[in-house]
Amino acid sequence: MSTDSLRTLVLASRNAKKLAELRDLLQELGIDVRSVGDFPAVPEVEEDGDTFAANAAKKATEVARRLGEWAMGEDSGLMVDALGGAPGVYSARYSGPGASDESNNAKLIAELGDVPAARRGAQYVCHIAISDPSGRVRLTIERTCRGRIIAEPRGTSGFGYDPYFLIREYHRTFAELGQNVKRAISHRGRAMGALMPALREITGRT
Ligand code: IMP
Repeated sequence: MSTDSLRTLVLASRNAKKLAELRDLLQELGIDVRSVGDFPAVPEVEEDGDTFAANAAKKATEVARRLGEWAMGEDSGLMVDALGGAPGVYSARYSGPGASDESNNAKLIAELGDVPAARRGAQYVCHIAISDPSGRVRLTIERTCRGRIIAEPRGTSGFGYDPYFLIREYHRTFAELGQNVKRAISHRGRAMGALMPALREITGRT
């Protein structure tokens, strides 16, 4: 186990779509990016924090300690202005046990009812924490991406709430814009971009 130099980074997420996005963004660092899913002995980390920051730090530190490797914890979600910031940290399980993207989207649209377009503002939030192998959080960052929730889904790429999340500047949803644009402007893309200089420093690739 290495305590300082970062050669391997374990992503503390089992969400395949998120992993693909993060892996893509980390490619240029030339480090070995693994997923916690490759280590079946590591138990699922319970996301019981009240904030994205608390959940991201918990995921990173628990996985890092368990494996003795650097680990990245990411917690993200959707906050809708007219719903007082809901679903927030509960985005993945908004519609209750056994929630799916479809059931979560159905609940979101039902909750918004006939709220007019001008009051359907929302933001995606992404918080990332990176822990060293001892479980100490060494880097942390949060970024957002603003948009508006539309009433009918549009597009097929992305995941989660993407077909309903319209980016004003593009007049398109994340599900219509595709991965390249999403990578550049999304909450996750922005957080990773902001983290990259510090990550490069830790890996010695400045
Ligand atoms: P987490 O795995 O607990 O961080 O849950 C994140 C949840 O937030 C996902 O299951 C989605 O519902 C939502 N979410 C986060 N990022 C995105 C995104 O980029 N597109 C769509 N939904 C997202």
